[in-house]
Amino acid sequence: LISEAGLYTASDQIIILSPENVDSVLFNSTAALLVEFYATWCGHCVAFSPTWKSLARDIKEWKPAVDLAAIDCANESNRKVCTNFGITGFPSLKFFPAYSSSESRGLELRGFPRDVRGLRHYIIDKLEMHNEAWPPACPPLETASEAEIDSFFQTNNVKLLALVFESKDSYVGREVTLDLLPYENIAVRRVLDTETSLVSRFGVTDFPSCYLYNSSRHISRLKVLNEARTFYSYALQRLPGVERTGKPQIPITDLIKNSTLQEWRSFNKTRVYMSDLESALHYSLRVELSGHISISGNDLTALKKYINVLAKYFPGRPSVKSALKTVDSWLQQQKGTEIKYSDFRDVLDNTVQTSDAVLPEGVQWVGCQGSQSHYRGYPCAFWTLFHVLTVQAKEMGIPDPQEVLQAMRGYVSSFFGCRPCATHFESMAQESMDHVTSLSAAVLWLWSRHNRVNNRLAGDLSEDPHFPKIQWPSPELCPSCHGLKKTGEHHWDQEKVLTFLRNDFSSAHILMDYLQ
Ligand code: FAD
Repeated sequence: LISEAGLYTASDQIIILSPENVDSVLFNSTAALLVEFYATWCGHCVAFSPTWKSLARDIKEWKPAVDLAAIDCANESNRKVCTNFGITGFPSLKFFPAYSSSESRGLELRGFPRDVRGLRHYIIDKLEMHNEAWPPACPPLETASEAEIDSFFQTNNVKLLALVFESKDSYVGREVTLDLLPYENIAVRRVLDTETSLVSRFGVTDFPSCYLYNSSRHISRLKVLNEARTFYSYALQRLPGVERTGKPQIPITDLIKNSTLQEWRSFNKTRVYMSDLESALHYSLRVELSGHISISGNDLTALKKYINVLAKYFPGRPSVKSALKTVDSWLQQQKGTEIKYSDFRDVLDNTVQTSDAVLPEGVQWVGCQGSQSHYRGYPCAFWTLFHVLTVQAKEMGIPDPQEVLQAMRGYVSSFFGCRPCATHFESMAQESMDHVTSLSAAVLWLWSRHNRVNNRLAGDLSEDPHFPKIQWPSPELCPSCHGLKKTGEHHWDQEKVLTFLRNDFSSAHILMDYLQ
């Protein structure tokens, strides 16, 4: 997968350029583009690629105004494109303003910064160089004056204005403005600390700080854990009435009334429910696997590892654990190269149900309920199941830190019904799963990869409007998990995150409500 696509894959949210798409992507585009020209064999490019991927995740919401692309100049078929752009060394970065003509060779960025923050600032500087050909999706980035703010609600059709007060050289206001680009009913502007009349009118004492202003001229300070970009953006995106463009917010009660869904089960969003875990097992073992009439080769190995890990670490009710153990010992006895799903199913349903070993039938989502039947459910419970298993393995101090992750990888690759999900997950696994050398690192690996998936899917059609994809846990859920680097960049305190995960997914924390 990696070798076919060079250093990047479709999961990286970077446009992969080729002779076929290069003209349509770079020329006359409504968005500006920053392009990396690289060669797979170049060590500096390999070293730079994680930064380029982080940058793509970091500025994901800016896409309609500015996007990232990459092209592998070591690939023979791309050679001519790279030569036409005058590329002689790697990695090279070039900026293409919106509406660049087909004659454009882009602005070369010499001695470019090697960190996400520096690159992000460079992008803002370059966006501001657009004059008439301003990317249509890009909000204004210039500073706001008192006169403009006074007449703001007469000239703009929004309900809320967020003002970031800051010094001239701060990028926070512009970053937050771009982070809010895909959101409706809100606008963001920056105000300089030199606008003394506004500063005193709003009672501003800290720079940066963020204030909300509405059409009734009501002023309030935005409460955040830290006065920094990520915290402002997260808080503003979640304000009542602020909505992602194109996502109708239907009240959950109306959805339930009008749908064929079972009765809504009220639940605590911060807890794990055993009913979700058992439902995931039912769905995986009785529905997903049943699509495979016989199971052999790598698939059989994957199934054996999956069931083995469940039998060893699933922190379930005794009857469910014993069902998993029965299926596991039957599977381990199968020495042939192939099994029939029907035999597997017989063991699961018949042998098992005779004793006190039972895997309940059917699904009953609780914490994984979706506001409509096509949202959440199984994939939500499958993630939860493996977070629980990695934590359980950590608590038990098992010898092999890879065991649970590799079992998940094998199952997803062989059986997980969403095939694009499996491809994306496998590319993340190929990239770094082998580097996991401790049980704590395994818990954190799954957490951080799940957050990558959340980042990619935020705003996607598959996102339940009532359960937006966030970088999890939120500052409300785990304040101590979030910190700031000296530069003002957001920083995850991984030790605190680990403590949080070990508590959140611990067997003692799982709620047994609604079990059959
Ligand atoms: P989920 O993302 O399913 O999360 C479930 C719960 O886990 C959340 O409610 C939250 O309580 C908790 N949680 C959230 N983030 C974290 C975290 N970082 N660490 C620990 N706990 C967390 N869908 C696609 O459309 N495209 C894909 O490529 C894709 N790939 C997937 C790959 C895998 C391996 C899996 C299991 C699922 C994949 N999905 C994909 C489905 C997608 O990730 C979600 O599971 C689905 O959209 C349901 O989302 P949700 O809102 O229930 O939250």
